[in-house]
Amino acid sequence: MASVEQTGNVGKKVVVVGGGVSGSYIAYLLQSDADVVLVDEKEFFEIPWSNLRAMVEPKMAERSVINHQDYFTKGRLVTSPAVNIMESDVLTADGENIPYDYLVITTGHGYPSPRTKLEKISYYQGELEKIKSANSILIVGGGPTGVELAGEIVVDFPDKKVTLVHRGPRLAEFISPGASKKVLNWLTSKKVEVILGQSVELGGSSDGTYQTSGGETIIADCHFLCTGVPLDSSWISETFLKKSMDDKGRLAVDKHLRVTGHSNIFALGDITDIPEIKQGYLAKQHAAVAAKNLKKLIKGSDESVLSTYKANTSGLAVVSLGRKEGMAQFPFVSLIGCIPGILKSKDLFVGKSRKELGLAP
Ligand SMILES: Cc1cc2nc3c(=O)[nH]c(=O)nc-3n(C[C@H](O)[C@H](O)[C@H](O)COP(=O)(O)OP(=O)(O)OC[C@H]3O[C@@H](n4cnc5c(N)ncnc54)[C@H](O)[C@@H]3O)c2cc1C
Repeated sequence: MASVEQTGNVGKKVVVVGGGVSGSYIAYLLQSDADVVLVDEKEFFEIPWSNLRAMVEPKMAERSVINHQDYFTKGRLVTSPAVNIMESDVLTADGENIPYDYLVITTGHGYPSPRTKLEKISYYQGELEKIKSANSILIVGGGPTGVELAGEIVVDFPDKKVTLVHRGPRLAEFISPGASKKVLNWLTSKKVEVILGQSVELGGSSDGTYQTSGGETIIADCHFLCTGVPLDSSWISETFLKKSMDDKGRLAVDKHLRVTGHSNIFALGDITDIPEIKQGYLAKQHAAVAAKNLKKLIKGSDESVLSTYKANTSGLAVVSLGRKEGMAQFPFVSLIGCIPGILKSKDLFVGKSRKELGLAP
């Protein structure tokens, strides 16, 4: 990778807002080519698809929660949420104005999270104790998070009674109905009680008794809420980028991943309106394309040489089911069992993701 000195581009300021999948990766890729500032609300990047394993395996928690400073060694880290974007500055909640020549918005989903790695690891230790000390566990939400958590618990703790309640008509609705049915069958074969088409009132229970909207009573020693987090881009809708947002709060981008109408502002990952499944492996591809484009723009290259990104419509997705099995959805077929397990479930791409950030697996 060329150094700042080699490119002669000292002083081009790139501000990356959001230190998730695409933000951490692009900050890593660009740190030798510009003055990069990474603005994140926390001190670490966490590999999101390993966080259910992190709840049952402390070693996984340790590997998948990565301090930004471990891979982002040449730029400046600002640990404070961005609260406003102006035409040449970003304002943080701590009141700092950070100037930019190029801005990259990657704020995806702002899952509530502690600020430090230590706090996050201690959170996972607490979750593991909660699981260990419960005989019966209620999981609310049957999207990928709820399904994968159920898988982790029944494989590592087969004696626990797990009940999964999902409001929708089928599990993991982002995959095909056939794939979803395979996941349901797998969970029921592991004695998970799956209740579909119902919700649970969590606030009312203090004695381990939960009522579903369909009038069923569930007894559980503890519960986990896995209902997913909506995109939180409301703060951007108060800025001059408002006109580039759609009604779902997503930023419209052109084929070079620049926010429509703004030649020096990129948006990547889940926050974009790219018509494709919202997945981390695609967020990383966005980061790779945008990094190439930013390097070219910084060097003064012509717009005509910018790389383009084409929406990925393959629908490829893998849902892990414990440590050894999984469900993989390919364009025309879905496959459940050990082969998807080898693909994803064993290490959850954690070693690969760490290597991509220049770290030991
Ligand atoms: C449980 C789970 C399992 C998943 N499994 C898979 C999988 O197997 N494969 C796959 O490809 N994808 C998977 N995904 C989806 C994948 O994680 C997302 O698509 C990906 O994280 C999106 O990346 P992103 O860069 O858009 O934003 P995110 O990774 O969501 O990161 C956003 C970052 O922005 C920060 N932020 C938010 N608001 C602000 C602000 N105002 N100022 C500063 N920082 C801010 C957040 O703290 C966060 O660090 C999974 C997701 C979850 C939750």
